This record gives sequence, C-alpha cells and structure tokens, in this order.
Amino acid sequence: MMAPPKPSSTAARASITPKRIVVVGAGIVGVATGLHLQRDGHHVTLIDPTPPGHGTSFGNAGSIAIGSVYPTGSPGNWKQMPRMLVDPASPLNIRWSYLPRMAPWLLRFLAASTPGRVEEISKHLWALSKDAMAAHKTLIDLSGAHDIVRPVGWLKVYSSQASFDKTADERAVKTRRGVNIEILSADELRQLEPGLSPRFTHAAYEPDNGFVSQPVKLTEAYFKRFRDLGGSWVAETVRRFDIGPDGVEKVVTDLGMHACDAVVVCAGARSHRIAAMLGRAVPLDTERGYHLNLNVTAGPELRRPTVFGDHGFVLAPMRDGLRLTTGAEFAGVDAPPDFRRVYRMLPHAKAALPGLEVEVTREWLGFRPSTPDSVPVIGRSPEQANVYYGFGHGHIGLTLAARTGELIADLVAGRDPGLDLTPYRIDRF
Ligand SMILES: Cc1cc2nc3c(=O)[nH]c(=O)nc-3n(C[C@H](O)[C@H](O)[C@H](O)COP(=O)(O)OP(=O)(O)OC[C@H]3O[C@@H](n4cnc5c(N)ncnc54)[C@H](O)[C@@H]3O)c2cc1C
Repeated sequence: MMAPPKPSSTAARASITPKRIVVVGAGIVGVATGLHLQRDGHHVTLIDPTPPGHGTSFGNAGSIAIGSVYPTGSPGNWKQMPRMLVDPASPLNIRWSYLPRMAPWLLRFLAASTPGRVEEISKHLWALSKDAMAAHKTLIDLSGAHDIVRPVGWLKVYSSQASFDKTADERAVKTRRGVNIEILSADELRQLEPGLSPRFTHAAYEPDNGFVSQPVKLTEAYFKRFRDLGGSWVAETVRRFDIGPDGVEKVVTDLGMHACDAVVVCAGARSHRIAAMLGRAVPLDTERGYHLNLNVTAGPELRRPTVFGDHGFVLAPMRDGLRLTTGAEFAGVDAPPDFRRVYRMLPHAKAALPGLEVEVTREWLGFRPSTPDSVPVIGRSPEQANVYYGFGHGHIGLTLAARTGELIADLVAGRDPGLDLTPYRIDRF
C-alpha cells in the first residue's frame, strides 16, 4: 500500500483520522511536535508542570546550528578524562561523586568516540540538520515569528594557530558532510565583529546557521499558534501509564488522567524516566550547561553568537542581554548548581570584548538531554505501537526541534518521512 502524501495541502491533511495525542514535555521539541500534530488535525495535549519553553529550552545559546554535526564524543576523548575530573575550568567536566553512576553511559560515550563512529554519527546528524532550517521556516511562517530569528551565522574564534588546530578534525568532518564553513583571516574577522579583541587571529564562520535572539520567545510563538489551532497544555507531571493490548490508553499524572490514542515522549533530560515507565531502558544522561545573563552598561557590540574556542564558552547577543553560556558538566539532573563554573568565564568574556562592562541579571542552569552517541532518539516505540519518542538532542535541541516534530507527525499520520529513521531508533543501544 502507498504511504499517504505529504500534507502540503489542506485536502491531504483533511484525510488524516484525528487522534487524541498526549505530548509529554513542553520544551521546544514538545511544542514544535505538538504544533505539527495539531496542524494535522489531531487533538493534542501537552503535559508539563513547567510553562512551555521554560525548561532547558529557555537558556540555550540560540543557534540554529545546522553545521553542528560533530559529536561531543570525539577521538582522543579518553586522553582528556583526567582533565575532565580535576580541572573545573575544562569545557567538559565530571563531578567525582557522579562518576560511578555515569560509568555505563561514559563507556558508551567513549565507544562512540572513535574516528569511524564519529564519521558515521556526523552523517546521521547531517541527515537531520540539513533540513532543520527549512523545518523551522515552516513553523516560523505558521506562527509569524519572523522577527525572532536572524540570519547572522555562528562564529568560532581562537587566539593562536595551536588553539585553532585543535578543532581541525571537527572542521574536516563538517566539510566532508557539506557544511558551509568559511575560514576567516584576522582582517575579515575584524570586519565581521569589530568589537572583538585583536588577540583573536583565527576564526571559522558558519554563515548558514540562524540565531534565535530569545529562545523562549520562539517556543512561545510556536505554542501560541498551537493553542490557536485548538491544542492545550496542562501543568501536570506524568507519573505512569495505563497500558492495554493496543498500547497506552491513559496517561496518569499527579493531578489526573488523560485518555489518549497516542503518546509522544519529549521530556528532555528526564525522558529516560518516562521511557522506563513504558518498559524501555535507554542510556540518557545530561550535559549540564550554565548561563549568565549580562546587562551591558558599556562596551562594544557583538553581532552574532560567538564561540571562544580557547576557553569553550559562548557569548550570544540576546534581546534581553548578552548571554554567556558554558560547556558541559556531568553531575546528573538532581545535583545543586555550581555557578562558579560560569563565573570563571566572566573575566575571559570581558577580555574578549575590550571595554565591556556588565551587571549579572540572571544565573541559570539547564540540562542538555544527551545520548552517548550525540544522536537523538526519534521514532516509534518497539514496545507500544502508539508511543513515539523525540528526545536526546543534546547540544542541538533547538536546531532539530522543528525537524523532529515534522518526522514524528509523519510517523503518526502513516506518511513516508522520506528519511531512514533506523539510526535514531531507541533500541539501537
Ligand atoms: C547552555 C546551553 C546552550 C545551548 N545552546 C544551544 C544552541 O545554541 N543551539 C541548540 O540547538 N541547542 C542548544 N542547547 C541545547 C538545547 O537547549 C536542548 O537540546 C533543548 O532545549 C532540549 O529541548 P527539549 O524540549 O528536549 O527539553 P526541555 O526544554 O528541557 O523540555 C523538556 C520538558 O519536559 C518536562 N518534563 C520532564 N519530565 C516530565 C514529566 N514526568 N511530566 C511532564 N513533563 C515532564 C520538563 O519539565 C521540561 O519542560 C543548549 C543547551 C544549554 C544547556
């Protein structure tokens, strides 16, 4: 039997049998997925105790980073392990107390870090991210969020040849995939970002990345459109599922029950807990990331999100201030924050933009939902035919949210997603 056509027309969408669908989690991934499903004519309920977009999706660096196809786990990672454990300023850092708990995840992470696996993983990521901007464009057009996303690309700067050379393999892999990277001379860098300190002499620029100038506003715009189309959100926490012969029949929360025909799990860094309720173990951990929101009182302008490769932090010129974000800390979702990690980067940020004077207006911690191979989980549950997964996007959940929603809506409608989803299956581990 032929798969139904893509819903490019209202007529194609009208042929879909409407279902009652619960989406667990209202981050950017859950909301984008909910919007796609609601647009297909389903009756969608988002369940999340946190308002839409106020989890990890609130505080990221805002890059629709279509070129981010190089996994976190890379060749030579094992050599950096001692530094990750002892140096709190390392871009990847592990809390000693958490090491025993994360050992199984870490072993898989190291296994996924060989040159061969990195090459393979980058292909799986590129297969998703090459269409990520177009997928966002569909939702941006639908929700009228045009003023939130700016086409300014993504810049990575370094102060020495040695520092630049450390990321040579990353650039080589990206180039092989077809990512558009421009290597800039010091003069070209000055023209692009005149406010940067002249000590930055090397730069790689990815012009095709988009910049979401306040991430929560994008989720809120998608959510508003979702609600206008008839979708709803309940501020509840999912506790368990009632499962019958054909799959999940009811989603049970702390406050009630929701009868449903299908469930989509988009619960970010806690998705493994939901998957466990559905009978599936999955190695998901979190790469915790911090930000400081900075009110700039004096100093030069930064025009685009910029990675400072020597120290591994990002500065992003958000609408509500300059946002300083850090690398990744492994300590689980329950450990208290350690804001010293991000404050350590503040002097480096000030040195990067000479004359910069700021006051800190927000300290924030978020939980990247990370699989050991940096590849998200997207697809149907092997256990229950009416359960779908969309989580584990790690560093690129904002980037891949709209594409993930598109693919899940295709699966729910029985349409051909036009992409082999085998690499993203939950049972690949
Ligand atoms: C510092 C930092 C910088 C980043 N920069 C970028 C970037 O520039 N570009 C990019 O693409 N990505 C970036 N990311 C990653 C990106 O933010 C995440 O991948 C993305 O936000 C994940 O979205 P999500 O919807 O899966 O998770 P979340 O936004 O965390 O949403 C998951 C939701 O599930 C809910 N939930 C959990 N358990 C339950 C339950 N039992 N019942 C009901 N609800 C539940 C939670 O309350 C939460 O609201 C960055 C992340 C960090 C931390």
